[in-house]
Amino acid sequence: MQVSRRDFVAAALAAPAFRLPSRRAYDLILRGGLVFDGSGAAGRVADVAVQDGRIAAIAGRIGEAAREEIAARGLAVAPGFIDIHSHGDGSLFEDPRVESVIRQGVTTMVVGQDGSSRVPARTGETSFLPFFQRVEALPSAVNLATMVGLGTVRRVVVGLDNRPATAAELARMTELVEAALASGACGASTGLEYTPGAFASLDELVALCRPLAARRLPYATHMRNEDDQLLEAIEESIAIARGAGCPLQLSHLKTGGPRNWHKIDAVFERIAAARQTGLDLTFDRYPYIAWATGLTTRFPVWARDGGTEAFLRRIDDGATGGRVRAETLADVEQVGGWDKILITDVTAAGDRDAVGKRLDAWARDRNLEPYAAAVALLRSNQGSVGTVVFAMNESNCERFLAHPQAMVCSDGGAYAVAGPARTGHPHPRGLGTFPRVLGHYARERKVLTLAHAVHKMTGMPAARLRLADRGKVAVGAAADLVMFDPATVSDQATFEQPFQYPRGIPTVLVNGVVALRDGERVGKAAGRGLKPAIRS
Ligand SMILES: [Zn+2]
Repeated sequence: MQVSRRDFVAAALAAPAFRLPSRRAYDLILRGGLVFDGSGAAGRVADVAVQDGRIAAIAGRIGEAAREEIAARGLAVAPGFIDIHSHGDGSLFEDPRVESVIRQGVTTMVVGQDGSSRVPARTGETSFLPFFQRVEALPSAVNLATMVGLGTVRRVVVGLDNRPATAAELARMTELVEAALASGACGASTGLEYTPGAFASLDELVALCRPLAARRLPYATHMRNEDDQLLEAIEESIAIARGAGCPLQLSHLKTGGPRNWHKIDAVFERIAAARQTGLDLTFDRYPYIAWATGLTTRFPVWARDGGTEAFLRRIDDGATGGRVRAETLADVEQVGGWDKILITDVTAAGDRDAVGKRLDAWARDRNLEPYAAAVALLRSNQGSVGTVVFAMNESNCERFLAHPQAMVCSDGGAYAVAGPARTGHPHPRGLGTFPRVLGHYARERKVLTLAHAVHKMTGMPAARLRLADRGKVAVGAAADLVMFDPATVSDQATFEQPFQYPRGIPTVLVNGVVALRDGERVGKAAGRGLKPAIRS
């Protein structure tokens, strides 16, 4: 870039209307950092200059000055992290600072996951453009990209019932997927353990994923099962992507439940076999051994058909109650028992004492047996009870993260230690994912190199979602940048005390604007809605 800049100056000197170029050539320069370009290549020491929201120069030493210079010596400089599976839009409109996100170095959240997105809406909205405009008007501290949720599409067209879509409904659903993609969705997601997404057949999903094929955008799936039927669920996902001809992204891939931990070898074999036949298959994973989901997920899908009221009626009904109980107890045994389930969120004021407790302990507090306590919680909270379930193991977590086809996701929400985004008792992944991979898994456990860890958070997800000018430190790319200290970067949030920001991430830029300086939030939020780069 130095060379081309000199060429530019030479051309300017030769031009008749020559004016002396300003000494302050750039908006900002990060000086002397160890630059990881996001490709997986090793870091190299360089200056990085930013102008008008883009990276304008990268060189061992940039001679010109800038309005603002930030010393990066001894620190890593990387593309801002892209969270390929985020639920951070949940609190975005209450608290657009998304402080737990920006403090991890994340500059883009990819939302619309697990089959659920803001568009299409029952109000008739079928385009993401107004959503992107609302995000930019907030303004959001980070960029947003979004999938279209196929569960949302089904809810809008078919409703909450467990039945196949009619031909007319399928045609309407396909139109909605097309409209979402035409307006900038970066893929289509499902949540096949949730209702009404779970009621979609393989054929329906193949049809709805076909519009992804020509755009080379992924079908991202929270699979129908992540434990006893994990391998069957992977086969179904492969069949859907193959049938539709689109790329496949397995969301938050895991082996759930101790008796399924050994399946990781078979999982990797299936991924390799599918890739060998030409399927573009990758996955994402968060760096923890507990997952977070609604308490209802422990209950059978058939019992949840038709919504919360129908679900609660089936629990009470003499004809179905026994079967619901038996299948739920079998599921709880599979995850390792009621003591593996931490209650994290309730809506009922009378149940606040449950938050932060294991389900068995809270049941003892209430003098109930655990199943009855779980049902009581669901009833008083209209089915909305958040839980964290400890049913994965550490060595598999490391193997998933280190896998060449793995990217890093948080699967978490956005939080703040104060203000409206301090809610419930969240899974720490919403505050610690990215520094945890860099600190714990790369530096301490050495399960992957720092350059590869950065790649899995930047260049890899950007390519996956075709966010052409993101995820790399390259001249012309958007100036989403993070500076972190490789020696100290670390997550602080724990399952016991989640509301703690990470350490070792002093500086974050979003679209060339400093969002975090010396570890403190500053400046004007500059997040944008991001669309995949697709020539149409
Ligand atoms: Zn999910």
